Amino acid sequence: MPPFDENKEKKIILSAYSDLLRSCRSNTTVAERKQIRKAFEMAADAHKEMRRKSGEPYILHPMAVAKIVSKELGLGTTSIIAALLHDVVEGTDISLKDLEMEFGKTVAKIVDGLTKISEFSEQTVSKQAENFKKMLLTMADDVRVVLIKIADRLHNMRTLGSMAKEKQLKICSETSYVYAPLAHRLGLFNIKSELEDLSLKYTQPEIYKDIEMKLADSKKARDRFIRYVTDPVKKQLDQMGFTYQIKARMKSVYSIRQKIIKQNISFDQVYDIFAIRIILDAPLDTEKADCLRVYSLITDLYTPNPKRTRDWITVPKSNGYESIHTTVMTPKGRWVEVQIRSKRMDEVAEKGLAAHWKYKDTGAAAADRAFEDWLNKVRQVLEDPSPNALEFIDDFKTNLFAHDIFVFTPKGDLITMPQGTTALDFAFEIHTQIGMKCIGAKINHKLVPLSHVLHTGDQVEILTSNIQEPSYDWLNFVKTHRAKSNIKNFLKEKAQELSTRGHEKLLAILRQLKVEMDEHLLLFLQNRLGTTTTLEFYQKLSEGQITPEDIKKSIKQRGKNKKEISTKATENFEAFINSNKGVNDDLLVLDDTISRLEYRLASCCHPIPGDNIFGFIGTDYIEVHRVNCDHAPSLLAKFGYKVVKSKWGSSQEILFLVGIRVEGIDEIGIIQGITKVVTSDFKINMRSMKIFSHDGTFDGTIFLYAKDTSIINQIIRKLMQVKGVHHAERVDAEEM
Ligand code: MN
Repeated sequence: MPPFDENKEKKIILSAYSDLLRSCRSNTTVAERKQIRKAFEMAADAHKEMRRKSGEPYILHPMAVAKIVSKELGLGTTSIIAALLHDVVEGTDISLKDLEMEFGKTVAKIVDGLTKISEFSEQTVSKQAENFKKMLLTMADDVRVVLIKIADRLHNMRTLGSMAKEKQLKICSETSYVYAPLAHRLGLFNIKSELEDLSLKYTQPEIYKDIEMKLADSKKARDRFIRYVTDPVKKQLDQMGFTYQIKARMKSVYSIRQKIIKQNISFDQVYDIFAIRIILDAPLDTEKADCLRVYSLITDLYTPNPKRTRDWITVPKSNGYESIHTTVMTPKGRWVEVQIRSKRMDEVAEKGLAAHWKYKDTGAAAADRAFEDWLNKVRQVLEDPSPNALEFIDDFKTNLFAHDIFVFTPKGDLITMPQGTTALDFAFEIHTQIGMKCIGAKINHKLVPLSHVLHTGDQVEILTSNIQEPSYDWLNFVKTHRAKSNIKNFLKEKAQELSTRGHEKLLAILRQLKVEMDEHLLLFLQNRLGTTTTLEFYQKLSEGQITPEDIKKSIKQRGKNKKEISTKATENFEAFINSNKGVNDDLLVLDDTISRLEYRLASCCHPIPGDNIFGFIGTDYIEVHRVNCDHAPSLLAKFGYKVVKSKWGSSQEILFLVGIRVEGIDEIGIIQGITKVVTSDFKINMRSMKIFSHDGTFDGTIFLYAKDTSIINQIIRKLMQVKGVHHAERVDAEEM
């Protein structure tokens, strides 16, 4: 820690303060400046004794964050105040109430939001997901919370050097996982690039330094080349009377690195290390026309590559980005990217959202609408409480971070969708009912299935039928949140309805038979009639796959066996426990000492020797489950007293039916390959095999008889080595 010098520190803090004030918007009023001063004094006093890891006074951190918020994000007084105070509630004894009294509700709410988003580093993945969700929730509430959070992260990244190595890595991984994509999505390109660069710098310092050095080495030659390309452009622009600025925009170290990896090229082969950016000082009503005039000028001077020309002015990106991009061939035989935009567009590109607000009333409608659309999608995803936070993140990433494609309705309306979406997603995007009734689509007048993946420029016509309804299979290929949640809701309701009907039907049958309904009976029928869950049982009953006769027969059978088996099971069980004095008192050993009659292997998890198991004492028999069975937690929670510890005996010579799921590429001979492993390598009886192949991939389940888990594990390992097989795993249920 550097020597402590109170006067010197005071000077540093005061100069940081006047620096902050200088960064404020020019229209900041005297009253607002007073509020900022008050916030500064409150924070400085609260953090008085605190030091950062680097040894400097803590207050310099919130001040730096406030400056980023003001200067780099262009936000106003409220955000500056909230940034100054962002750490006081968590780290000092100032309360939210105090803040509300001094600075009003909005500041208190923003600081509250910032406090709630705790650091991600020390948490498990699902915790991180929860936290991420929380962050987005606050964003839907007030976007400033997330903007300040990003500024906070940026400053922490800029000062990461004084942290311990391990902490650095954690913070970096979280930065590239959450903050950089978020900054990108909010249109904060500079901050996104800086976050990525800093991340790379700390996680892979050698690579970072190497690229940085090469950039420095090539700078002189690059500057010369830029002058060579831009001088003729400047001359023409001057003649045409434009006010403008020309910048050479460098690619970030991180994105150069990405390019090197993705295209497997060397540093010298990255041809777009920089782009030339022309920023026009043009009034709003002629900005597009002016940009197009400049585009025309550029392409008169240099030959453009038509494949690399993009007009983001006519159709802005969904984060609001507007610009014309083109790549042209220079006389020296080198491609150069040229970006043309107005000053307003440039500011939007640099400061994102904040600049949007600034221009909100000026009528730059297209970009604004694109951004509003995006925010609406955020809200849509957030308002539907997805039970699983990880699923939520997936949803969020595909729906909101994905690159967009543009497709058209038959009438020619443009619709923006995430990449990878299908015809069915499109149908739901148009209208929920069209999605529900969709049977297929015509793309560019050609008939395609629902699962067809869309591409930019496709014109999509949806075909519907009144008798169509969603099926489970749809969930396998839809991408958008809207489609998924609608299909899921429909299926849930339908299952509910079937189940209610099945339940009523069962009650009626039992009434007829004068049999009392209870949980054991239900479990018995469910097992006996080959269903694994109560829901499935009811559904099959209401759809007629299980008939009233089936139920009557089963109940008769049960009456006959019930008494005999149940007494025998209990007696045997007790005898068994008593005879095993050496072992734990309530340990059930499944071997020849008790016959197969008294226990049953649960049909939900199909335990086999080698699995960790427990016994569940039922009326008629002991049901043996795997410890990791889906039903285990609820059985243990509800009927703990009926559970006995169990283990497999050694003399087990019985063979058990096991299913193994296999996935992979549908190559010639794959089936022989799989069969060979089981039947010749292991000399095992295969009962059956189901293989489904689709579009060059296959998945299937093989059923075989095996002695225990060790054999199964060996088979699985061997199967994974078969050419074309990507994955093999044991399955629990399935109709064995
Ligand atoms: Mn902070």
